[in-house]
Amino acid sequence: MSGADIISLTAAQAAAAISAGELSPGELFDAYRARAAADELNCFTWVADDGSDAAPSATEDWVPPGPGPSRGASPLKGVPLAVKDLFCTEGVPSQSGSRILEGYLPPYTATAVARLAQAGAPLLGKTNQDEFAMGSSTENSAFGPVRNPWDPERVPGGSSGGSAAAVAAGLTPWALGTDTGGSIRQPAALCGIVGLKPTYGAVSRYGMIAFASSLDQAGPLTRDVTDAALMLRHMVGQDPCDATSLAYPGEIALPSAERLDGVRLGVPVELTGEGIAAGVLASFQAALARARELGADVREVALPHAPHALSAYYVLAPAEASSNLARFDGVRYGARAAGASDLADMYTRTRHDGFGAEVRRRIMLGTYALSSGYYDAYYGRAQRVRTLIAADFHEAFGEVDFIVTPTAPTVAFHLGEKTQDPWSMYLNDYCTVPMSLAGIPAISIPCGLSEGLPVGLQIAGPVFSESALLDAAFALEQALGFDGSPPRSGAGGGTND
Ligand code: GLN
Repeated sequence: MSGADIISLTAAQAAAAISAGELSPGELFDAYRARAAADELNCFTWVADDGSDAAPSATEDWVPPGPGPSRGASPLKGVPLAVKDLFCTEGVPSQSGSRILEGYLPPYTATAVARLAQAGAPLLGKTNQDEFAMGSSTENSAFGPVRNPWDPERVPGGSSGGSAAAVAAGLTPWALGTDTGGSIRQPAALCGIVGLKPTYGAVSRYGMIAFASSLDQAGPLTRDVTDAALMLRHMVGQDPCDATSLAYPGEIALPSAERLDGVRLGVPVELTGEGIAAGVLASFQAALARARELGADVREVALPHAPHALSAYYVLAPAEASSNLARFDGVRYGARAAGASDLADMYTRTRHDGFGAEVRRRIMLGTYALSSGYYDAYYGRAQRVRTLIAADFHEAFGEVDFIVTPTAPTVAFHLGEKTQDPWSMYLNDYCTVPMSLAGIPAISIPCGLSEGLPVGLQIAGPVFSESALLDAAFALEQALGFDGSPPRSGAGGGTND
């Protein structure tokens, strides 16, 4: 198989080619390793050399990077995986996009990564991200911004921007990301790929460097819906190391639906009007028309509290972050500032030098929101709003099977365009944060182009509806036939299908 042919395969197709003996896991790994190593978009913070990058003291749970001799027999056949920097990977830099964790080599591997490795997906590289997953453009990374393969002057979205751009650019067959308020779905939308945030608790958070623990979820970023199902299938399940993880009821099915007969799709007026760019709305409406042709019953639904989701999120997420990030003190992990006069001075200098501006802003916001005297007025109130938002979804799912919205209000924006105005950056997650607060699964699939750039369609369902959600997304994906793909350097112009 030629290099261009290899790169054009989805993960499922590559696994099938390996099964059929048309491709070896080593050839596949080498093809992607070469591409990842030559990355010009700054997607990667670390790329595997070869199998010898393995951790010095590999444990039973951890399968080292590289294709390995027995991968061909496992379900994922040795199809390499790019992993967001914030997943701990034993002996491999895991820095969460932050200076404060520069050079940190964890002594263990995150459960989600270990499960995928055990299923036969070796680690290809670690991907760039916004620092501690705070951001919507990947411009908050201490290791420089990631560029969008559709237009290198634009952002890939964030915070899983390295993962999304790497998949879109064909630098990896697929990638692992995390989503706290939209960080899988929004970059997937801006890069023209598929991104799925699972039900909260479906995937173990063990070994994920925490941002906001009641919201963080790991999920797939892939070229198509089938790959998302395939990856998720090997990630879900209860983990004794994460008390919030849940036993997944049944197995994630590979999608096969061709039609949407009788499927009720709810369009929330609150998330599909003001603030959404005209070109994005036009693409969204065209996708709804296709859904109707497939037999879907598309109707309006109300999520009356959804417009308050962002305000609640920007109290809750910083509050949790301020607590989670207290552990970075220069003693236990990563960097330590030199020249301090005493312990308190060392803490202060380390945190001042180690954290970027956005992270410092959130720590201050969160600390304030949790301070005695203000706790009830901010944190308590935001929690009550969160409950109302979850109740809205519960009620809506009495009337419809899924809720559909645009994933992001705009297409990919220019680097630097929103960095001076945090609120305009935060608005990127207007349509994705409500689902995060409610803990429900949601997928973004590409639904067309506006200004020559990809637009994402978000479909959300009740807890544990992933298999049905993937089926609906698959039927729409086939009908929409999104065949856009950014120009791929060195691959002879592969496509996304
Ligand atoms: N953009 C949102 C934020 O900055 C969401 C990030 C995420 O999902 N990790 O918090």
